[in-house]
Amino acid sequence: MDRLKLILVIVLTAAISVALTSAFWLMAFNRGHVAEPSAAPGEAPSTAAPGQLIRGPTGLAIPVVGVKPEQLTDTYSAARGGSRVHDATDIMAPRGTLVVAAAPGTLEKLFFSKGGGGITAYVRSPDGAWQYYYAHLDAYAPGLHEGQAMKQGDPIGRVGSTGDASPEAPHLHFAINRMGQGERWWQGTPINPYPLLAGNKR
Ligand SMILES: [Zn+2]
Repeated sequence: MDRLKLILVIVLTAAISVALTSAFWLMAFNRGHVAEPSAAPGEAPSTAAPGQLIRGPTGLAIPVVGVKPEQLTDTYSAARGGSRVHDATDIMAPRGTLVVAAAPGTLEKLFFSKGGGGITAYVRSPDGAWQYYYAHLDAYAPGLHEGQAMKQGDPIGRVGSTGDASPEAPHLHFAINRMGQGERWWQGTPINPYPLLAGNKR
């Protein structure tokens, strides 16, 4: 009888240790799997590569891939004809440079403004309180559509000079608007994106 108990204990111990070991490897495998890039080998990357995104103190990413904080200038209060001020940051970059989402949200509006922002995209934050505006694009990212859920770093398009930008100085016009209750994509109150992107005042 004692021998039977001993065998039972040995069998149970073995069974538990097998279960724990497989659970460990399952967890280890899943963790490794999540860390893998989403694009298959040989496929063009669908988002900015890991490490390419540069985030400011609030977690906002510089929306033009390859641009460093020290390359940014504060153009928020620059005059733009008459009494208008700029209310945005111009991020200078070669035509065709990848433009990505600075923050997650929903792509609320794709809009063409011939005499203004040219090819533009409006992305609303998940809580609805902020609107991120990307303008003067050369082109949209393939498949980009209104209602699309955007993660930070998802492609929006390419740097260009559509609208009223100078063809000799392609750049991304990037604006952030605080959105009041019920405000639509063309509304909102601008805040200065520069300190959020550059991490300093000047
Ligand atoms: Zn601008």
